[in-house]
Amino acid sequence: MDMDFGPNIANQKAFIIEDECIGCKKCIDACPVDAIHGASNLMHSVIDDLCTGCELCVPPCPVDCIELVQVNENASLAARNNSEEWFQNTIKLRQRRIKERSIVDQDNNLKIGKEINKQLNYRSLDKEKNIKNLQRKILMGRIDEDKDDVEFINNLIDKL
Ligand code: SF4
Ligand code: SF4
Repeated sequence: MDMDFGPNIANQKAFIIEDECIGCKKCIDACPVDAIHGASNLMHSVIDDLCTGCELCVPPCPVDCIELVQVNENASLAARNNSEEWFQNTIKLRQRRIKERSIVDQDNNLKIGKEINKQLNYRSLDKEKNIKNLQRKILMGRIDEDKDDVEFINNLIDKL
């Protein structure tokens, strides 16, 4: 069994005593399967179908308002299956967002590159020479003026 979804302790699920909850969000951070919902300073509650009863949310609660209640085995197994599916879907979603962000970055880089080319053409400058100078400047900014590094970068750019 994959422990990413929390240890399988018993056929149980968490229950938040909502009147006592101060909305600190500490249980949300502790839950490995996103089974707790609620916003800052508002009461929180547990999604029964996702809670695996792993108990990880209990110790962080500063007001001790999370209890564990017994459920039957079928409900416990169903919750664990749902949680695994939810967990995998959130990973996929996160990876898609990272990919989308990198595409936006590439778009921005492309725009900057096009702008530099436009400027160089406009001023009738030697595009190749100026791009090399630009690359040299960027790479030099990343080193501590170490003599060997400077020589290496100059050689590298001259060969481009
Ligand atoms: S018992 Fe585990 S799965 Fe259920 S809400 Fe708490 S941390 Fe989440
Ligand atoms: S840790 Fe306790 S007090 Fe804080 S939001 Fe969760 S249930 Fe409420």
